[in-house]
Amino acid sequence: MLITNAKLVTWGSPNQILEGYALLVEKDRIREIGPSRELTARYPQEEILDAHNQYVMPGNICAHTHFYSAFARGMSIPGNAPKDFPEILQRLWWPLDRSLRAEDVHYSALTCLVDAVKYGTTTLIDHHASPNAIDGSLDQIADAVEASGLRAVLCYEVTDRDGEAKMKAGIQENVRFINKKKSPLLAGTFGLHASLTLSDSSLDLCRQSAPDGTGFHVHAAEHDSDEYDSLNKSGLRVVDRLQKHGILGPKTITAHGVYFDAREIEILAQTETWLSHQPRSNMNNGVGVAPVESMLRMGARVCLGNDGFSNAMWEEWKTAYLLHKVHHRDPRRVGGYDVSQMAVYNNAALANVFFPEAPIGQIAPGAFADLILVDYHPASPMTAENLPWHIVFGFQGGMVTTTIAGGKVLMKDRQLLTLDEAEIAAKARELAAQVWKRYEAQF
Ligand SMILES: [Zn+2]
Repeated sequence: MLITNAKLVTWGSPNQILEGYALLVEKDRIREIGPSRELTARYPQEEILDAHNQYVMPGNICAHTHFYSAFARGMSIPGNAPKDFPEILQRLWWPLDRSLRAEDVHYSALTCLVDAVKYGTTTLIDHHASPNAIDGSLDQIADAVEASGLRAVLCYEVTDRDGEAKMKAGIQENVRFINKKKSPLLAGTFGLHASLTLSDSSLDLCRQSAPDGTGFHVHAAEHDSDEYDSLNKSGLRVVDRLQKHGILGPKTITAHGVYFDAREIEILAQTETWLSHQPRSNMNNGVGVAPVESMLRMGARVCLGNDGFSNAMWEEWKTAYLLHKVHHRDPRRVGGYDVSQMAVYNNAALANVFFPEAPIGQIAPGAFADLILVDYHPASPMTAENLPWHIVFGFQGGMVTTTIAGGKVLMKDRQLLTLDEAEIAAKARELAAQVWKRYEAQF
């Protein structure tokens, strides 16, 4: 397939915008890029996808999400509103995830994947929980991901909160899925809920059970209760405790890190552990603001996720750009380059940990053909240098017209080709109503 008449945003180092270009896709890779006229002449037989002068960019990447959370949209929490994050877990997320059955897991994932295709997020790193439907739950999600054609990394969050048998079932689900032969667009990692719901012995069992070469995906210091729980249990802060149990390293993702102290950030940097920042979620939960500029300065690998918020990742860019300014009451904080460092370059490097066969998140010969076409008409000069500010102030998810992952077209001219949005939404609404009943019955 030859994508012609494109303005290519390469997201290389340095970034380039190449106008009047074409891009040859062969199987799941970008094989060649060059001036549109040249490539059209050289490959006259090739199937053409005319970009009509739209921007062609690498698909967005989400470093931390929860497909299982989709049915919470519009759901009310009985009684007074939760006053803090521990109450949000106890009264919203835990009764909700306990209400999920296998089919709910599948349709909740499909709901999020429809968003991802529409808004051009082509790689998603998910963190799943469904304590009353653990066995095979990652297959339910994997089937949805395969149906969508997107690229995803899946895991099951191991926790002690539902007893020892379910803790062990969670371990089994991770191990089974990691070892399973999967499509090239799927990868597995080992999920852990958070330090606050895992005993020392459970952490050790996870470490021992994880197949060689796999890392972990764990919430860390999202709220200070996680730090105080860790200090009470072990005398150690969360990151020190995870390090002691062999959880950290270049394949491990910690999510949030709002309450990390300087030493914890230093350990993250030294162990090359990833940290995913979710500003929309942090604001919604009122947990505080992660010191991402200090983390980046200390060499920690900070990425951008959405924690189950919409898969329109440019919304997360905008929130990251705005939040730190109001928090510090200083408009110089977290600029466009900081956001693109997290959302583009670090997210791409993280995705490559799980899909190492070819570069992800850039347009270059040999890279994976995960691409989006964006119908944006800048009303001011747009260059490779000022692009992050155009994304923050000008781009909208709805400007994505075509989405391609692994060389396959998943949406063309805003028509979804792999998923039936209306059918998925209708079935999801039916299932969600039942989930809400099971949720309410727990109060
Ligand atoms: Zn999360």
